[in-house]
Amino acid sequence: MSFKLKLNNRFTEALPADPVPENYRRQVEQACFSWVFPKKTSNPKVLHVSPEMLAELGISEEAANSLEFLKMVSGDSVLPNSKPFAMCYGGHQFGHWAGQLGDGRAINLGEVESQGKHWMLQLKGAGPTPYSRSADGLAVLRSSIREYLCSEAMYHLGVPTTRALSLVLTGDQVLRDVMYDGHPEYEKGAIVCRVSPTFLRFGNYEIFAARNDVETLKTLVDFTIKHHFPELDKPSKETYLKFFETVAKRSLDLVMHWQRVGFVHGVLNTDNMSILGLTIDYGPYGWLEGYDHGWTPNTTDREFKRYRFGAQPSIVHWNLFQLANALYPLVEEAEGFEQILNDFKKQYQQAFHHMMKAKLGLFSEDETTLEVINELENVLHLSETDMTIFFRLLGDVEKSKAQNGLEVVKKAFYAQDEISGNIKNRWEAWFQSYTLLLQKETLSDIERKTKMNKTNPKYVLRNYMAQLAIDAADKEDYGLLDELFTLLKKPYDEQPEYEKWFAKRPDWARHKVGCSMLSCSS
Ligand code: AMP
Ligand code: MG
Repeated sequence: MSFKLKLNNRFTEALPADPVPENYRRQVEQACFSWVFPKKTSNPKVLHVSPEMLAELGISEEAANSLEFLKMVSGDSVLPNSKPFAMCYGGHQFGHWAGQLGDGRAINLGEVESQGKHWMLQLKGAGPTPYSRSADGLAVLRSSIREYLCSEAMYHLGVPTTRALSLVLTGDQVLRDVMYDGHPEYEKGAIVCRVSPTFLRFGNYEIFAARNDVETLKTLVDFTIKHHFPELDKPSKETYLKFFETVAKRSLDLVMHWQRVGFVHGVLNTDNMSILGLTIDYGPYGWLEGYDHGWTPNTTDREFKRYRFGAQPSIVHWNLFQLANALYPLVEEAEGFEQILNDFKKQYQQAFHHMMKAKLGLFSEDETTLEVINELENVLHLSETDMTIFFRLLGDVEKSKAQNGLEVVKKAFYAQDEISGNIKNRWEAWFQSYTLLLQKETLSDIERKTKMNKTNPKYVLRNYMAQLAIDAADKEDYGLLDELFTLLKKPYDEQPEYEKWFAKRPDWARHKVGCSMLSCSS
């Protein structure tokens, strides 16, 4: 059983290619991409495929079992009528311009047209490219499972994201020093086939602005608008500003989703900011367990915590400022950009307020709502309180039972005995004012709970859950990988058969590598 994909190579046909055909590390100028073939794998094996992504691409489950499919997603054969390539981009990493980065271990197979949509298929970990710098272009099973599971889970959560089609074991060994402490070890190599309408990032535009190559910058921006923002007019200064404004809006929407579900990206460099406002590049990301604005999963960021949970909105703003700088040569007037960047801050306040109201099940207007939200942020930080469990259980609070609130959310506290004295008083006072607001709501308790359950997921990919799936997969047991994949398709449903995953992080996972802290090594 084979399958046929309709290819439409818009990116490579319209944009300038690097004329050098050889695959060696270099600076690539005046080009948006370089042609490059994936490396042959020694013993590839498909570990998992996403049925939802298969359906989008019009590939049957039967075809996904074929040798042809295995060859495609392992990079052992390329798509007919398409030539694989790696993109050139730069980026600001941890606040500093880092120069050329590019697809160092991502190879685009081609653009597939299916059911009126365009999907770029990209292999992550398929070997070196001209952009690999000093690294090997490969990926390990550990990080590939994390990307595969999380990107599909995000899709089902309703969070804009790149997708994943498949997870493949390459049969090759890859050397990694996980904690950067001089103890490298061999790990299993793997490849995720990622899918997105485009993988363009802020860094794709920044690189041309940084090199004063306004011509290529304009070609790329015009291409992006034509194919990915077709609702905008023909290129002009106003259209470029409108483009920036649209990207800013989408980025705001994205970061509000992250704050809503408790996702911390971990490496919000400008090369990890999708121009479409999608979550992209799943590296040392993490999910909040205790609600904590200061938390970051990324060990590399331990000291300054630049990319901590509470800072994500202002970091997205900072990244947009860099994109504005990159687009400036096309407009040559700062005012329009400044206005959009200022508006972002105001819109963020409103969006945050709106999102928290939805999490709390408050749908009417009341002047005390903001105070109640602010005080909740404070009390949540008084003792370790599980974000997912707290908000999910909050839906069970009844309007008529103010004194009962603490009892209802009890399971969310990591140390029950800490909920005493002043902390207990603060919580009780908070529940008093919250129930007063609930009493002003027109919805019944059950109607409110139903709405809240669509905003507050019951199941997210907790860091230790992914690690358990990784540990099992490392021993060739892929049962948990499949169980979590299935569980996370319905994150807002009760799914009583999976109740064991509606639980706080176990104690053993508190300080375990991969569970609470992650390095960038992948
Ligand atoms: P990241 O931190 O994953 O966003 O990656 C930053 C840059 O490093 C990107 O240009 C990646 O393509 C590149 N990179 C990361 N890991 C590797 C690797 N193993 N081999 C080659 N390039 C890599
Ligand atoms: Mg990246």
